[in-house]
Amino acid sequence: MSTKLLTTNWQRLPEAAVRELQADKLRRWLRDTVLPFSAHYRELFRRLGLTADGFRSLDDLRRLPFTSKADLLNTPDNPAKVRDFLLVPDRNVLSRRPSTILRALLHGKESVAAGFEAEFRPILLTSTTGRSADPVPFLYTNHDLANLQLAGERVFGVCGARREDKLLNMFPYAPHLAFWLTHYGSTSFGVFTASTGGGKVMGTEGQLRFLRKIRPDVLIGMPTFVYHVLHQAAEEGIRCENLRRVVLGGEKVPDGMRVKLRNLAIEIGAHELDVVTTYGFTEAKMAWAECPVPVDEPSSGYHLYPDLGLVEVVDPKTGEPVPNGQPGEIVFTPLDARGTVVPRYRTGDYIDGGLTYEACPHCGRQVPRLFGKISRSSAFKEVHLDKIKGTLVDFNELEHVLDDTPHVGAWQVELRKRHDDPLDVDELVLHVQKADAVSSEALTHELHHRLAAHCEVHPNRVLFHSAEEMRGLQGVGVELKEQKLVDHRPKSNGTPAVVPAVNHLLHKEAA
Ligand SMILES: [Zn+2]
Repeated sequence: MSTKLLTTNWQRLPEAAVRELQADKLRRWLRDTVLPFSAHYRELFRRLGLTADGFRSLDDLRRLPFTSKADLLNTPDNPAKVRDFLLVPDRNVLSRRPSTILRALLHGKESVAAGFEAEFRPILLTSTTGRSADPVPFLYTNHDLANLQLAGERVFGVCGARREDKLLNMFPYAPHLAFWLTHYGSTSFGVFTASTGGGKVMGTEGQLRFLRKIRPDVLIGMPTFVYHVLHQAAEEGIRCENLRRVVLGGEKVPDGMRVKLRNLAIEIGAHELDVVTTYGFTEAKMAWAECPVPVDEPSSGYHLYPDLGLVEVVDPKTGEPVPNGQPGEIVFTPLDARGTVVPRYRTGDYIDGGLTYEACPHCGRQVPRLFGKISRSSAFKEVHLDKIKGTLVDFNELEHVLDDTPHVGAWQVELRKRHDDPLDVDELVLHVQKADAVSSEALTHELHHRLAAHCEVHPNRVLFHSAEEMRGLQGVGVELKEQKLVDHRPKSNGTPAVVPAVNHLLHKEAA
């Protein structure tokens, strides 16, 4: 079977065919592209005695060591660590490729040179958004850009876009995957899209102006920001009757957030609204989407592209792949990338459903799908939650509880020290904007009850705010990403201590 089938029939192949073709494609990609042009992987393969031809089936993949975020971070000896993962072509190797010789004969040397430029010269970058570490840039060549367009076009297709729709893209204008995938995806799919650049570029007012003028059918953006914009639109009495879908990315989306967005959309005149979420990360250079499902039905899962990359779900402790339908950590290997490449990239993201190859019951596409809730370890890597009043708190769970509590609109968790004294006890202050006219006493009581039951944490205070005050607290229009968790505890020496309990919670081998 030709690996081209993976692309031409990407949405209708059974598991056995996918696995066989992916193994073929992986072997060729390692042999022809990675090993000749990546000093890092060439050395790794040599050290471990591996060869590209040793990867006969996907079961062989487990012999390839993982690459993790920590491997990409700069060190004092290597201040540009991620460059080790860039494919740098070697003219001598390229000139010996049979395809090169054939092309030179048919189209001339200039055509060959242009082809190599397109394949290997980096022309675009997106980067990670970590606040705790330096952002890590990932480079794209023209070849990658074509794949970004293809992946973007498929996101639009899976999300159920129609060419006659009008889309409003509110992702922040930044070197981030979400913005660029939306831009290239929409132009490739061929649908009208206005990109506002998000709150930092045009403010909430700018988004509302576009909402009034364009009357979009679909809103695209990060959940917290889209929530603020819709909330303010409702406050100002803006009508947007044809709004039918919200597509979210950049953060995970608790179920409660879907309900809140739907209620707000109906308040501004939408007849019905479905919320579709996407999942992607810088290192994959692509994102995947759910297809729309009827309200109150479980998510259809992220529809993967078997030709562009392969996703494994592994046991976070042993690193061994788990059977289909079992929870674990998401690991990604590109199959056609140039520029920066990280095979077997450990995302640190845990999915509680796992991987399935069953045809999607909603759209019928037969593609590998990731289903269940995703918890991002980065959500609790950035703060030292073990120190909240001596109790270890899982921020993923805290976030779900707060988003799922009825009557809670936007919220923010603030950590501080009593009297701002570094030696005094931790305090947890919960800032809440009410979604409706519920009494403050009743909601305070409910929040205490839920947080104690699910997270074993008791807020010292619950403070209520207007929508405007909450926008100020979260830094809407000021920060690239809204602040839902702020740590105002004074640091004794400027570098917060890393506590082993957190590493344990992350199940990170590398940490
Ligand atoms: Zn589907």
